[in-house]
Amino acid sequence: MNEPHVIRIMCPNLGCQRVLAVPDHARGKLVRCRSCGTNIRIPVMRDPATPRNLSKPDHDADAA
Ligand SMILES: [Zn+2]
Repeated sequence: MNEPHVIRIMCPNLGCQRVLAVPDHARGKLVRCRSCGTNIRIPVMRDPATPRNLSKPDHDADAA
């Protein structure tokens, strides 16, 4: 799964509302709408909470 993460954000300009696709690493940065030139701040989205208990092998349950 090496798909490049792209954030889609809609231009806040009511007269534009163009959907912009910005790279994932642009979070927290300002991008300029190519259509109207409005600076748009890309919201920083936190990664979903990943339960460590599921990704971490538990050997205590392995009782042979
Ligand atoms: Zn725009």
